[in-house]
Amino acid sequence: MDNKLQTVRDNYARISAEIGEAALKSGRKPENITFMAVTKTVDPVLVNCAIDCGISLLGENRVQEYESKKDAYRPGVPVDFIGALQSNKVKYIIGSVRLIHSVDRMSLAKEIDRIAGKQELVQDILVEVNIGREETKSGVLPEALPALLAELDALPHVHVCGLMTIPPPCSDTTYLQAMQELFLQAGEIPGADMRILSMGMSDDYTKAIACGSNLVRIGSALFGARVCR
Ligand SMILES: *Cc1c(COP(=O)(O)O)cnc(C)c1O
Repeated sequence: MDNKLQTVRDNYARISAEIGEAALKSGRKPENITFMAVTKTVDPVLVNCAIDCGISLLGENRVQEYESKKDAYRPGVPVDFIGALQSNKVKYIIGSVRLIHSVDRMSLAKEIDRIAGKQELVQDILVEVNIGREETKSGVLPEALPALLAELDALPHVHVCGLMTIPPPCSDTTYLQAMQELFLQAGEIPGADMRILSMGMSDDYTKAIACGSNLVRIGSALFGARVCR
């Protein structure tokens, strides 16, 4: 375990430096880019090590895994939900997570609105975009985004504060740039609050930052390759 802890510390230092460098290169401040630690399948001991290093945001994919691990995490660090979300699981995470990154359909948003309303709170969400138009992936298609944003605007207990994407694995920046353009366009809709572009994972975070991302979701580059279960 000591070895693994040291690896997380080394990875954290390296990735933070790279994020800072990428931010400066694109004319932004390093502190304006959020480095999220993605915790799926990761031992809470390692997650807490990342928190000790300075991680200030966790990303969870699975409701059940989150439920079983959250009490083992150091308190005080916000958690975002980033995985595919079924409407019947919404009730377990509202009031507990800071931001839901993966809203891509009105039926899901309505359920979030309903549960958040019951708890008298407004749930911040991102709209997930399927920028690569991949059939296997969730997310709204780019051309359907404006209509979905307009519909979401009518929900009193849901607040959209940006966009999220998982682009196709790709060595160039075509999809990242397309997403940046879509994000900027969405920001021009009157009343839109496009503050967060959640884009970039272990393989592409520096490129994503170059294309305007201000929140990178990093798992394996920080914690090591995931063991499948
Ligand atoms: C697993 C996951 C990540 C992190 O992936 P890595 O390639 O391990 O960094 C980021 N975002 C989402 C939505 C994920 O499911």
